[in-house]
Amino acid sequence: MRGLMMDRPLLISQIIEYAASNFPDQEVVSRTVEGDLHRYTYGDAARRTRQLARALQKLGVGEADRIATVAWNTYRHLEIYYATSGIGAVCHTINPRLPADQFTYIVNHARDRFVFVDLTFVPLLDKLKDQLPEVAGYVIMTDRAHMPETGLPNVHCYEDLIADEPGEFEWPDLDENTASSLCYTSGTTGNPKGVLYSHRSTLLHSLFVLSIPGLTMDEDSAMLPVVPMFHVNAWGVPYFGPMVGAKLVFPGPRLDGESLAGLMNSEGVTDAWGVPTVWLGLLAHMRSAGERFHTLRRVLIGGSAAPRAMLNEFKESYGVEGLQGWGMTEMSPIGTVSLVRPQDRNLSAKEQLDIKCKQGRAMFGVDMKIVDDNGERLPHDGKAFGELLVRGPAVLSGYYENPEATAKAFDDEGWFRTGDVAKIDPDGYMEIVDRTKDVIKSGGEWISSIDLENAAVGHPEIAEAAVIAARHPKWDERPLLVCVREEGSGVDKNGVLDYLAQHVAKWWLPDDVVFVEELPHSATGKLQKAKLREDFKDYTLPTA
Ligand code: ADP
Repeated sequence: MRGLMMDRPLLISQIIEYAASNFPDQEVVSRTVEGDLHRYTYGDAARRTRQLARALQKLGVGEADRIATVAWNTYRHLEIYYATSGIGAVCHTINPRLPADQFTYIVNHARDRFVFVDLTFVPLLDKLKDQLPEVAGYVIMTDRAHMPETGLPNVHCYEDLIADEPGEFEWPDLDENTASSLCYTSGTTGNPKGVLYSHRSTLLHSLFVLSIPGLTMDEDSAMLPVVPMFHVNAWGVPYFGPMVGAKLVFPGPRLDGESLAGLMNSEGVTDAWGVPTVWLGLLAHMRSAGERFHTLRRVLIGGSAAPRAMLNEFKESYGVEGLQGWGMTEMSPIGTVSLVRPQDRNLSAKEQLDIKCKQGRAMFGVDMKIVDDNGERLPHDGKAFGELLVRGPAVLSGYYENPEATAKAFDDEGWFRTGDVAKIDPDGYMEIVDRTKDVIKSGGEWISSIDLENAAVGHPEIAEAAVIAARHPKWDERPLLVCVREEGSGVDKNGVLDYLAQHVAKWWLPDDVVFVEELPHSATGKLQKAKLREDFKDYTLPTA
């Protein structure tokens, strides 16, 4: 028997209209590329979004057309998110820091029709335009006064484009499974792969995030997404923020510690989301400037493992709760968040930190299983570990126009293979042991590179650490620790190994420690282990 409820679609346009009707005066503040601080309200945002929707239709943009953005986190980017998806087009956010060949591959693979571009990235597109034959035109995200000299063909000025459009618009009633946005994963090997979200998956993901116990976000919240809007829709902040009437604070192009701290304090930011690299910069600034956070209560750290020392410093030095989130582009992206349960709040600070160092419990809507090499399920006993697979209505069902990658991504039951190795404890807390390709296989046993890295950065004189497998004649692979010293530190190999010996099993101790000036990072700020492995491919361990 079917239920007798209305079959109304879940649509992205409903979010911005809801925010405009219910939180018309709530603020959206942006540090702009032009340099000033821009502030307006959800009422203004909705009106300009409708104007842009009309302008897009005048440009001939229709359903399923891919519209690229190459842009920072600002109010104009927010308007593009809603206007493109709202009319049934696809908002395709692109990471401008990608290598040129990957950038052009992505635009051409997606067959983007228009590219919206921030002033910062106009020179980049000027350089690449001849390799983007299918792009019909460009829109520079600025006003007439700031329009640059450019050789881009069919170029428009954003503010001119929308200026004369009326502020009313009738959003189409789309099927909720219509594609809404597109994001390519950075692809450590091979070409980037496209993940195509739908209106339904986006709204469900937002509702699931808002249901995470203890993560209260509402009209009293001021959310700063440091995570770029080109990185998995800024982890959903631009969607679920307006749903609950949270103030949005966009950092624009200034992501250094000093600028972020200033913006957080002047705008009363309560919640900030971003990758560990960003928080390293912020904490270094706070330490050296002796500053305090006035309103910040929570920082969500995701995209790579949150270092224990970082979670601890936020809490002990600043009274800010650091939370770890785990997810993937393929999961919209959030899978788990590590919050301490009410019954665990009387545990010691150390025990609570142990809990937060796990990746956390699944949010509603995310099913997880771990399996052995034969695909057999492993128990959730906190000890067994194997490949982690997930499923849910906000998890992809296939890569965009990429049957080869799709064929490898799912098991026989249709679960998505995350490529992470994990354990799950009886309380549901998942803990990443490693990436399947990063784990060090020493004499048939697995050593977690992540655990070693976390232990190493616990050393007060180690700023950043990476552990990779180095070839070994007897053990196949042994861990090699590559690290960056804190400024002015003279710590040596033995100093690091003595420290590690107190924190990890003896047979896990790296066979060598190498100090470098800096470690390679991907376009999304993650450690590039593949690059590091390449850099050290001719390296011989002293024990080999
Ligand atoms: P890419 O960096 O290729 O664009 P994603 O951003 O989707 O890809 O990265 C997803 C991967 O990042 C996960 O599969 C996992 O390996 C890693 N990751 C994300 N969050 C965490 C976390 N909190 N702890 C450890 N690893 C994480």
